[in-house]
Amino acid sequence: MKKHGAYVVRFSELKEDTETFEYILEETFFQIFTSPEWESGKIRAVVTVAKRADGITLDFDLNGELTVICDRCLDAFPNKVSTHQVLFVKYGQEEEELDANVVVVSREENQVDLGRFIYEYLVLALPVRRVHPELENGHAGCNPEMLEKLKKHIVTEETGSTDPRWDELKKLMDKN
Ligand SMILES: [Zn+2]
Repeated sequence: MKKHGAYVVRFSELKEDTETFEYILEETFFQIFTSPEWESGKIRAVVTVAKRADGITLDFDLNGELTVICDRCLDAFPNKVSTHQVLFVKYGQEEEELDANVVVVSREENQVDLGRFIYEYLVLALPVRRVHPELENGHAGCNPEMLEKLKKHIVTEETGSTDPRWDELKKLMDKN
């Protein structure tokens, strides 16, 4: 997992018991935290860090869009993303991620990389199926040129053995 100093919060440096950090994540973030899930993005991240007797609570609010590839026409489009996650930081012997919402850090380390968790939460926030949203007139918002190219490709493919993924795609396109 990639780490980056720009998004590290050192708990010993917190001035208040509760502090809020806000980031506008654009090219710089998405050049560091690259993923096969997206091409780029623009996300407003608001993270509230609260000290508690038994650890630290981090409250993540992530809103914006991620540029993803459409499952139907294979063109890129901005997919709206909005998610809220809470991360509990516990103190222990060594750093260990118990699950997406619980992490153990040592007293010496006493910090977390917000970027790493923002990255994970964005991956979780993306829908399994990603297609262009419908237009106001109810038609599919897909790129017609891309669909046309794909249709030609499927026709040539059909003479050979069929790939179930293409069959699925063709069914979808026939509906439109
Ligand atoms: Zn599309």
